[in-house]
Amino acid sequence: MNVFEAEIAKYERRLAKIEQSPRPNMVKSNKIFYQAMLEDNREQLAWWRQGKPFVVVGGSDLSILMRCFGDFRVLNLVRIADRMGTKKAEAAVEKLRAMGLPDFVCDRTILFLPLAAMAGEIPEPKIVVTRTGGCEVVNNTTRTLAKTMGIPLFTIDVPFEDPHHQHLPYVTKQMENLIAWVEANLPGAKFDEKKLVEWQTAVRRYWAALHDIYELRKHVPCPDHPRDVFREPMFPGQFPNPSLIIEYYERYRDELRERVAKNYSPVGEEKLRIVWAISGPYGSGMWDYLAQTGVAMPYFLFGSSRDNFVMPHYGDTSDYGRELKPLEEEARKTLYNSWGGGGERWIRDSVFACQEFKADGLVLFEQTGCQPVLGLGQLLTQRLKERYPIPVWSVEGRQLLGRSEGVEAEFMSGLAAFVNLCHERKKVRQAA
Ligand code: SF4
Repeated sequence: MNVFEAEIAKYERRLAKIEQSPRPNMVKSNKIFYQAMLEDNREQLAWWRQGKPFVVVGGSDLSILMRCFGDFRVLNLVRIADRMGTKKAEAAVEKLRAMGLPDFVCDRTILFLPLAAMAGEIPEPKIVVTRTGGCEVVNNTTRTLAKTMGIPLFTIDVPFEDPHHQHLPYVTKQMENLIAWVEANLPGAKFDEKKLVEWQTAVRRYWAALHDIYELRKHVPCPDHPRDVFREPMFPGQFPNPSLIIEYYERYRDELRERVAKNYSPVGEEKLRIVWAISGPYGSGMWDYLAQTGVAMPYFLFGSSRDNFVMPHYGDTSDYGRELKPLEEEARKTLYNSWGGGGERWIRDSVFACQEFKADGLVLFEQTGCQPVLGLGQLLTQRLKERYPIPVWSVEGRQLLGRSEGVEAEFMSGLAAFVNLCHERKKVRQAA
């Protein structure tokens, strides 16, 4: 089974399971999400079987731009690696070692390399487009893919500096160069600015829903389940049919609104709220544990969470004091990533999130080989101590690899100890 076939089988099973025994504390709109994923994989597979072209985009925020050159599909390799599951990941790492590549890099990024090299697993892309200024591991792995497979590569340089607004012309200029490069390197590609405007108009609904979801999750009790909060937003530009994924976010927002109106909490009585940051071990029982013990997790903090949920988007005139041109709108989206600054940006955004969500604790899941936040845990803990003193649990682990029962048991016992500590500190704060 190639990756699309495996995903199709998985989502068919998942939808059947929801149909048979829906979980009352999970949002019903999850069904639309799984349908969107199922449809997406079916369409990608059909496209591949017809021999039609794919482009790789390292940085989902470039996906809309890449959909404006004609009939090309976007291949999101991190998303593919994310959904591999431990077994497939363990097999892929063997292949990775055989290729002479390092196995200590973040597994959700490095493991797409062996997949791409294994003929028949995923389609071979025609071009690779990537960017700096977010996760450099994703960027470098994407670049390695292009170099090892001899695929034409274009990298946009997104400066790390704050304030970031000053770099809008620099990034926009590179996007103009990118357009000329794509037209020269991708047979049949012709940029259509009208198409870009259409996309930008269509996805305003998506950004509006994400902003609303962010605000609704602040409510006490939090209306959302930790498992759903942990899901990174899916960019509509990655989907052959974006309308279903946009519908999902709108229905999801509406359900959260209904829950807020009823004061419904999916974790029962909300006793504690924590913010979760960076990443987490996939397939762990941690979300159900939190939900069963009355711990809400209103916010998942990662590099583009502030950009996705908080920052102004298409059509906004407040942050630049004027309307932006279509290409400038795309440049604006790439310019701010919490992991794209000099470290201070991540620390500042993390403290802000803990305050905004009135967190009783912060989990920093430091994924092995995750470079963007390397060495920042202690600095962040120190800053929180000064500005918003809550317990911080810094834990290292992998998302996909080495997730044995023993590893899970150790992780869960650390989580339980941290939750207890947060309860104790909360009691002390309330008594003061
Ligand atoms: S876990 Fe770290 S290295 Fe891996 S994709 Fe996320 S930010 Fe990048």
